[in-house]
Amino acid sequence: MKCPYCDREMRLGTINASNLLSWTPDGESASGVTRWAKSPNAVVLAKWYGLIDASVEAFYCEECRKIIIDVPEKDLAGCVVKEGDVLFNRTNSKDLVGKTCHFTGKEPMIIAGYIIRLRMNGKVLPEYLSTFMNLDRSKKLLYSMAKGAVGQANINAKEVQSIPIIIPPENIQQEFLKLRKQSDKSKYVAYQETFFREKIIKIYIHLQLQEE
Ligand SMILES: [Zn+2]
Repeated sequence: MKCPYCDREMRLGTINASNLLSWTPDGESASGVTRWAKSPNAVVLAKWYGLIDASVEAFYCEECRKIIIDVPEKDLAGCVVKEGDVLFNRTNSKDLVGKTCHFTGKEPMIIAGYIIRLRMNGKVLPEYLSTFMNLDRSKKLLYSMAKGAVGQANINAKEVQSIPIIIPPENIQQEFLKLRKQSDKSKYVAYQETFFREKIIKIYIHLQLQEE
């Protein structure tokens, strides 16, 4: 993000708290002494979940000494995952950032701030998407996208939406998953090569993070 004051590139980081992270309007105060105490018109930036601290992405301009934080769209809606969602690990070591899985639980669950939830739009099977994101070819792209130090690399939600995904028709997605399950590791690597080079009419679309 460019700093709106000086137009220089801002540094991405996170602001963390062991309790509710919120903005309190002037003249109000947080009521109560619990970890989730907030004022009546507070703007909630992040919540803590169990042992995981509240965490929100923030851009910092070293020149102007300003920090910009996006207010999450809705309080909790973006943190609930249900069966068929794909989960993307946005903060990890540089080797592991972008590790992706699809959620198969029957009961909805709450995810922590370092996971980005991708809700499917009907064009892609969750298992295909998570498999695609974990391919070596995708890993290379994610590695080049990740910003930050070795211990804490990051890919933010906007960047996730810019990742090009090859999405063939559903029957070919099914075929890919079937062959992956049937073949051993070395055959699977060889199979990927031909699959993406010859078999697919490449359709690049952008993932959309869908609102509930
Ligand atoms: Zn600035």
